[in-house]
Amino acid sequence: MSDDRARVRERAEAVLRRLAGESARLRDDQWRAIEALVVERRRVLCVQRTGWGKSAVYFVATALLRHGRPGGVAQGRHGGQVAQGRHGGQVAQGRHGGQVAQGHNGGPVALDGSGGTTCGPTVIVSPLLALMRNQIETAARAGIRARTINSANLDEWDEITAEIAAGTVDVLLISPERLNNPDFRDGVLPRLAATTGLLVVDEAHCISDWGHDFRPDYRRLRTFLAGLPAGTPVLATTATANARVTEDVAEQLGDALVLRGPLDRESLRLTVLELPSPAHRLGWLADHLERLPGSGIIYTLTVAAAGETAEFLRSRGYTVAAYTGQSDDAQRRAVERDLLDNKLKAVVATSALGMGFDKPDLGFVVHLGAPPSPIAYYQQVGRAGRAVAGAEVLLLPGAEDLAVWRYFASLAFPPEEQVRAVLAALSPDRPLSIPALEPIVDLRRARLELMLKVLDVDGAVRRVRGGWVATGQPWHYDAARLRRVAETRAAEQRAMLEYAATDGCRMEFLRRCLDDPAAAPCGRCDRCVGPRLPAEVSAPGLAAARAFLGRAGVEIPPKKLWPTGLDAVGVPLRGRISPAEQALPGRAVGRLAGLGWGARLRALVGPEAGDAELPTDLAGAVIEVLRVWAHGDDRWPARPVGVVAVGSRRRPRLVRGVAELIARTGRLPLLGEVSPGASPGSGPRGNSAQRVRALHGAFSVPAPLAAALRDLTGPVLLVDDLVDSGWTMAVVARLLRQAGAPAVLPFALAVTV
Ligand SMILES: [Zn+2]
Repeated sequence: MSDDRARVRERAEAVLRRLAGESARLRDDQWRAIEALVVERRRVLCVQRTGWGKSAVYFVATALLRHGRPGGVAQGRHGGQVAQGRHGGQVAQGRHGGQVAQGHNGGPVALDGSGGTTCGPTVIVSPLLALMRNQIETAARAGIRARTINSANLDEWDEITAEIAAGTVDVLLISPERLNNPDFRDGVLPRLAATTGLLVVDEAHCISDWGHDFRPDYRRLRTFLAGLPAGTPVLATTATANARVTEDVAEQLGDALVLRGPLDRESLRLTVLELPSPAHRLGWLADHLERLPGSGIIYTLTVAAAGETAEFLRSRGYTVAAYTGQSDDAQRRAVERDLLDNKLKAVVATSALGMGFDKPDLGFVVHLGAPPSPIAYYQQVGRAGRAVAGAEVLLLPGAEDLAVWRYFASLAFPPEEQVRAVLAALSPDRPLSIPALEPIVDLRRARLELMLKVLDVDGAVRRVRGGWVATGQPWHYDAARLRRVAETRAAEQRAMLEYAATDGCRMEFLRRCLDDPAAAPCGRCDRCVGPRLPAEVSAPGLAAARAFLGRAGVEIPPKKLWPTGLDAVGVPLRGRISPAEQALPGRAVGRLAGLGWGARLRALVGPEAGDAELPTDLAGAVIEVLRVWAHGDDRWPARPVGVVAVGSRRRPRLVRGVAELIARTGRLPLLGEVSPGASPGSGPRGNSAQRVRALHGAFSVPAPLAAALRDLTGPVLLVDDLVDSGWTMAVVARLLRQAGAPAVLPFALAVTV
């Protein structure tokens, strides 16, 4: 057998040379993975650093499995082979071991299919389209025919499945979300599983809810794994799994061979710079970005911060672009392309520029704000320096990071009563869509979707065309496990703070977080060799950053449509909001998550803030925003003729103070306050339908205010402290319009997003 294995290795080396050039050689650890897949037909979990070369492993394995020339006679070339391979793992194993070994005498492995196809296609499950585009290009260069099935090419699914059946597809790439799509799950997945020659699961740590990046769609892989013919090899890869996650993933794969390598990244030079304020951090970037090598990524924790940072750096002459989950796909693609082509100095991104983005010569990764987990941090910085000798990795932590972490943590799996409410609302035969469920349960859409996916994998609900149905299977709320997961998250946050503060080697610290037994001082980081990047911020750089962050004013877009499903809960509002009842576009001082006014605004109107007087600096900002609104490029359609305050139970002093300030400064009459009446109910976390349901009927216009509104000839300014969902402004503006206000201009101190 060892002779056979040697011959398989020769063939593997030949394939690699075709993929990566004449000088390319498989390392022993790569060969061990290929051997386990191709010769032993095993399930393998590779925990290896980014840049280790996992794609070489699965492309070489694919070529050997797909086109190992049949050692037998012509029978091998006919369709019967695939059918035979489908049943009985033992038969397939024996046949393949022999085939591959005997096929070597034919010279280079044919990737064009002329050698005869022996296995079904390799299926790669990979989380991001960015990665899939890179993979398809790499594969095509090597003569491997790759296709992808995704939401954007629905009309090609039939054609692609026909090609798979005809044996002309070598690699099929799918996103994990596909696995939960009903048409794909019921129509494509069973046939695909039966013909899969090799299953590759990229970023496999996502399958474990112990990990920092659990994705419920990954749980559907269990169905896929269960449908594979016995003896079908499986390769799962991750660069970011500690011992606990590794064990969990290996168990879910079913008796997987774990191949773990050292997680050092020899090109990375880690640095932490503690700078006193957001202005110092932006100023530092403006001063020093130029000197960072090549092109890189600047990560921010929020969408607002990504936009602001990109805008500021552009104003300082840098070619940078923002990249967030709110950019559309075409925009994101263009930005990726420009970064790959070195047309940008940097992309300012949220974690949406994530797993699998591959630019081997990425010169630096800067974090403006720390992510909540050292493992997430290790993963993000691993995008730098894959194929260059040295790359700069810099963390600029801020005191405000903790507030963002708390917000992320609040999006965890919901409490039992909310889960039970959803289960009670679902029936076995009449599907309910997410918008139809929203009036029933007080959860934001993303959180509701995540919960349903988890329940789906647990077997309690099922996604069908048109929505979700209950399966009637009993379901257990695993409070103990959820508590342990929450404790794990909290421990990760503490570890991230320790990373910034540590006196020891930073790379060693990260590797220990990943349970890397070979963790040792790196000899490159700022702790090992002293600081190499200056901490100074120039006076002009700091002044520019302060001026930029001091700007005030963001738009409050008016609501145009009522949420769906309100009639089901007794609220008679549906469809378009009549133009006669809408607000006009409004203004706020800033965003709660923003870098500039964000920290000041969070202290005043954030989730934990009580009532207070309006501080002087914010009073100045309020006046400035109104001045620009009155005289700037994008000004209000008509000068307001009066001020109305939204009656506030939580912060009456603050809201009244803002309304009085505006009335006094603009010499406008303060017409009164809309009464808050009963408690507006659910907190700001609820979804749209829940908010409108709680707000509808909660406010009323007192008679003196109604009388004043009837005589107006211009718009009123409607003043509130915080615009979160935006529904308070929409509901109150409607009341004012109904009472006779000719137009309503909303004004608030802050908007949430
Ligand atoms: Zn070090």
